Amino acid sequence: MGLIVQKFGGTSVADVERMRNVAGHIIAEADRGNSVVTVVSAMGVMTDDLVNMIAEITDDPPAREMDMLLSTGEQISIATLAITLHAMGREAVSLTGPQVGIETDGAHGKARILKIADARVREALEAGKIVIVAGFQGTSRDMEITTLGRGGSDTTAVALAAALKADRCDIYTDVDGVYTADPRILPEARRLDAITYDEMLELASKGAKVLNSRSVELAKNFSVPLRVLNSMNPGPGTMVVKEYEHMEDFVVSGVTVNEHEAQISIIGVPDKPGMAAKVFKTLGDAGIAVDMIIQNIGSDKVNDISFTVGEADFSRAKEIAEQLVSEMGAIEVQTDDSIAKLSVVGVGMKSHSGVAGNMFQALADAGINIQMVSTSEICITCLIDVGQVRDALKALHKEFGLGKTAQSVSN
Ligand code: ASP
Ligand code: MG
Repeated sequence: MGLIVQKFGGTSVADVERMRNVAGHIIAEADRGNSVVTVVSAMGVMTDDLVNMIAEITDDPPAREMDMLLSTGEQISIATLAITLHAMGREAVSLTGPQVGIETDGAHGKARILKIADARVREALEAGKIVIVAGFQGTSRDMEITTLGRGGSDTTAVALAAALKADRCDIYTDVDGVYTADPRILPEARRLDAITYDEMLELASKGAKVLNSRSVELAKNFSVPLRVLNSMNPGPGTMVVKEYEHMEDFVVSGVTVNEHEAQISIIGVPDKPGMAAKVFKTLGDAGIAVDMIIQNIGSDKVNDISFTVGEADFSRAKEIAEQLVSEMGAIEVQTDDSIAKLSVVGVGMKSHSGVAGNMFQALADAGINIQMVSTSEICITCLIDVGQVRDALKALHKEFGLGKTAQSVSN
């Protein structure tokens, strides 16, 4: 007998039939003798629909009212799922984030969870009920409804699992688990039996959409045993673990790509102290997060400074760069939004040298030009042309033998 927290995303609860399917998973878990807390997202693309509706009214809605609006999607899901369970003869109770006592800071649209009061959930579990919790929402100290940012239901689930000291947190989604590469782009991609928190964190922050990166960070910090599996085709899924049993065997675990960034270059920046500081401080003050950075030392006492930003910040960042050109006495701004960021991730890189060389050689052999590179302890990222993504994934998948390896879970 244990306590399992489950999370079902929008696709898994998109309609009444799928709600019944979800109820089936909950009942199966309960019938194994477990207490079940289930977190759900808004049905289908309801959150997008609400965002789009408001976009017809204004491009600058008050953040408080957006949270008031967007939090309704999850409220529809929890009530519908609880009613579905009742209709199937089970006792269930739905709770909103505020009712559970998910306390957040007051940053509307991107609130962070401060603490979770578990009394109400525990009480309901002790009364033998299945507890259904609205994902993505909480309440600030001054009783305002907040949301955690898009895709935040994963975070709700992991935070609840941590607060309740759950035996496992199962994230049910629309794919079979975590793959060596996006199977929609690369059919030979393989489901991983296990992946480490650190690798998952890199993959999620470098573009893999299967888990929200904040939820992985939380899972790591609180050692929440996390599993990703398909609600429509349940199999073993992928366990997210602290470390592998055979750590040394795997150099690279997965390859991921992010096509939603753009590159900006400031050409001919005077080669003197303070220039890079000026560029990145100005961007930072404007709330623009910069990802990769490269500075080419040119001749004639000028440098080129290039960086990438998210698609959403691109036009603002470009404007700022153009202003900086005259302020700094640089030559011009060049931009490229047809780029893709390609990352190979693997804890094995710590103990294997030459991974970067092998990666660059495999890309070169496939005729792919590398525009920028950045590395961390377990990740190498290259910027390439967006049109070459499929070829690049294919080449790297082959180079690192990702179609063949099998990983075992260590507990
Ligand atoms: N419904 C919210 C969204 O679409 C939260 C979530 O799905 O996790 O972003
Ligand atoms: Mg969603």
